Amino acid sequence: MKETKKHIDIEITEVGIITDIKRDVITIKGIPSCVYGEMLEFESGDKGVVIEFDEEKVVALLLGTGIESKVGDKAVSRGELLKVPVTEKLVGRIVNGVAEAVDGKGPIRSTQYNPVFRDAVPIMDRVPITESLKTGIKIIDTMVAIGKGQRELIVGDRQTGKTTIAIDSIMNQKDENVICIYCWIGGSYTSMVKMIEALDNKGSLSHTIVVAAPASVSSTEQYLAPYTACAIGEYFVDRKKDVLVVFDNLTKHAWIYRQISLLLNRSPGREAYPGDIFYVHSQLMERACRMDPKKGGSMTFLPIADTLQGDITGYIQTNLVSMTDGQIYTSATLFNEGFRPAVDIGLSVSRIGSKVQSPALKEVSVKLRLEYAQFKELQKLTKMRAKISTEIAKKISRGQTLSEILVQPANSPVSEIEEILVFYAFDVGILEPFGKKEVFNFEKNIFKFVEKNYPELLGDIKFTKELTPQIKKDLNKVFVKFFEEQKIEM
Ligand code: ATP
Ligand code: MG
Repeated sequence: MKETKKHIDIEITEVGIITDIKRDVITIKGIPSCVYGEMLEFESGDKGVVIEFDEEKVVALLLGTGIESKVGDKAVSRGELLKVPVTEKLVGRIVNGVAEAVDGKGPIRSTQYNPVFRDAVPIMDRVPITESLKTGIKIIDTMVAIGKGQRELIVGDRQTGKTTIAIDSIMNQKDENVICIYCWIGGSYTSMVKMIEALDNKGSLSHTIVVAAPASVSSTEQYLAPYTACAIGEYFVDRKKDVLVVFDNLTKHAWIYRQISLLLNRSPGREAYPGDIFYVHSQLMERACRMDPKKGGSMTFLPIADTLQGDITGYIQTNLVSMTDGQIYTSATLFNEGFRPAVDIGLSVSRIGSKVQSPALKEVSVKLRLEYAQFKELQKLTKMRAKISTEIAKKISRGQTLSEILVQPANSPVSEIEEILVFYAFDVGILEPFGKKEVFNFEKNIFKFVEKNYPELLGDIKFTKELTPQIKKDLNKVFVKFFEEQKIEM
């Protein structure tokens, strides 16, 4: 007799009882085999997501807004993780903390779902970072360059241009085939609208997804938003695309987690944050990756954190510094002096990106950091003195030219070729005799001039990405021609 095997689908459900409700935090008794990030359904029709459990109880965050549940209601677990819909159609849309459309353009339908709390890409599937991600911001691309797959923290006081750095970096990805995700957490609604408008004005929403969780939405949504952003990003990474994710900002995310924890009567630790806040953020940061090109693309993170009066030794900030590959520190002093983007080079570092700059950009930027630091020192030392040697005067004048080049208006990223042209001109010292106006004019017009008159030279630089002796020779001649044409005496 032939034995046949039958598959039987068994749906395992566990039922518990709600024992406590504090705002969005629900405590349940009796779901023994739940896991972190699992979905629960309540008797009232509300849904929740498990964020903590022990032998006695399960703690879940309530999803949605209407709190219909009450103590004594049933809570059902079907062993499913919280998932968000992922699809190409998300690009250009604004969604909430659980990936539902909030831009009034109708629901986003999808057949595929990614878990919000997915494990990071395993080490064996990763490869070293070899490509750079251009931000189009001169001071960053030259001195704190970022690589695709890197995590670079943007940290600084309030109103020092952090968001602007992130927005400009997104704008610069327009023709770079990079999908951008802007995750707005805990900030004001009006600032969020401004950010979206800035992106829209430059036509950058067409390659961007905004995950919007402003301060006005539930703490659950604000807590989940960065993980949702990652889950969406991973969909594109799996399809071999490059992704850039901005988290604006993680200090506010930590506040939300602190609120949730205090509701749970957990004993507060350093700066009143719960002890596991490090885990909460590191679990997020490790999801950045550069995958083996045969298996996937890359996901670059630009998390943002606030400091209070320039203090980067705060708990959340130091945590983030330790789990990222470098930081861009924006200084209120520099910002108020008019040096914008107010990046403090002394305190900013990129541990990966500078290694993968193109040879041409590397050549022109390798000495900049030291030169700029020396200039700053000299400027301080010579402030009170009337007489200085000609050599020092020359160094200071060179430093001033460099400062003028590094100042860049908001929302106006420049291409890599423009950066190479300008910093090469600075390197050979051709810009020093000129004042602010002429340097500005040079920056504005040199690219167009070369493009119009010497397109083959531009093609050579783009192709080789190197400054060969011949290219250098040609460039020197081109610069002289440029100044002749502009009728500026050298
Ligand atoms: P918050 O802490 O409130 O989030 P932030 O650090 O993100 O602030 P932004 O909102 O980016 O700062 O910028 C603050 C103001 O500075 C904005 O009005 C912006 O337009 C201006 N700003 C930022 N960068 C530049 C720049 N490079 N040139 C001129 N203005 C700038
Ligand atoms: Mg901001």
